[in-house]
Amino acid sequence: MTLVPIVRKVRGAQRRLKEARMFAQAMRSSRHPILAHIIPTRRCNLSCAYCNEYDRVSPPVPTAEMLRRVDQLAGLGTTIITISGGEPLLHPELESIVRRIHDHRIIATVITNGYLLTPERIRSLNRARLHQLQISIDNVVPDDISKKSLKVLDQKLRWLASYAEFDISINAVAGSAMRNPEDVLTIAQRAASLGFTVTVGLLHNGSGQLAPLTEEVRIALDRVLALRKPTFSFVRYDRFQHNLARGLPTEWSCHAGSRYLYVCEDGLVHWCSQQRGYPGIPLERYSAADLEREYHTVKSCAPLCTINCVQKTAILDELREHPRETILRILSPPDSPMDPTQFPFLVRVFTWLFLGSRNRKWFSNLALRVLRLK
Ligand code: SF4
Ligand code: SF4
Repeated sequence: MTLVPIVRKVRGAQRRLKEARMFAQAMRSSRHPILAHIIPTRRCNLSCAYCNEYDRVSPPVPTAEMLRRVDQLAGLGTTIITISGGEPLLHPELESIVRRIHDHRIIATVITNGYLLTPERIRSLNRARLHQLQISIDNVVPDDISKKSLKVLDQKLRWLASYAEFDISINAVAGSAMRNPEDVLTIAQRAASLGFTVTVGLLHNGSGQLAPLTEEVRIALDRVLALRKPTFSFVRYDRFQHNLARGLPTEWSCHAGSRYLYVCEDGLVHWCSQQRGYPGIPLERYSAADLEREYHTVKSCAPLCTINCVQKTAILDELREHPRETILRILSPPDSPMDPTQFPFLVRVFTWLFLGSRNRKWFSNLALRVLRLK
């Protein structure tokens, strides 16, 4: 009998606890980065036509330097560190970096094109205690724009389903450059059939802005978003993606440089992958004053931004600042509003405990104690 399902359940429970800690920390304070991206190598083994985040020649950043950066991010109070690239699996000691993040009790995630995954590499990521692995898949069969294709990656997905003890998230990519708009739905359905979480990514241009979606792609995207629970996250209505698909701006405050940091291969902090150069301060000199300034800096690129991970950190801040309005907005699309009594049971319980009850302070303190944050 294999122990994998039991180990997965135990590890899964530990991960949910860690996520609850991350959430509670984000609700308690705005003075630490929720998420940071680090780049262990700019080199990639693929060359997707739309990508401005890779080269063919960069060496891996020395492991000692990457570990130092992880320690510095831990010192700033970062709660999630995502390793991307280039292709992070090209770093010979990726697992040491993952392990260091885990040892700081920070959530460690990796974004990969998946090409270099083998059963042995998956097992070594298990041992390093990776929290989540994300693969973006662009099409069903390779074309001249992208080779990140379901057909090429399907064996890797099956290995992940068999051996991985960490969470798997498949990002089905939609964009007007897609040859077959139905691909995004095929990819989402395959990922869901293997038990993976599915997200949808929109192809951006070189400034992080959206290339307008065709009507066909928009319809396919709406069909994927309509799959919703339980395959998709608790956010039932993503106003960013809803608006972007229609070419509409979204009003929000981007807190990049504060709640989200992008640390490039040279160790400089930038707003995000698409706005490199701002503020461009070395991580070792990044301070609480920088976090505070960037929290309030208005980003003119925000209305049509496609960087979903930064938008998710902003949703947590909206939840902290305006809890009731934000809960209503993420659970209830404006075209089919829900009554709060129809919300999922657990949402109603937590809303009552932490917002409605006379003893909400006592419940909050108890939760912080249980999560060992007090
Ligand atoms: S696999 Fe990722 S990093 Fe590499 S070229 Fe494609 S999008 Fe860029
Ligand atoms: S709005 Fe923020 S995350 Fe989006 S492109 Fe601009 S700086 Fe980057």
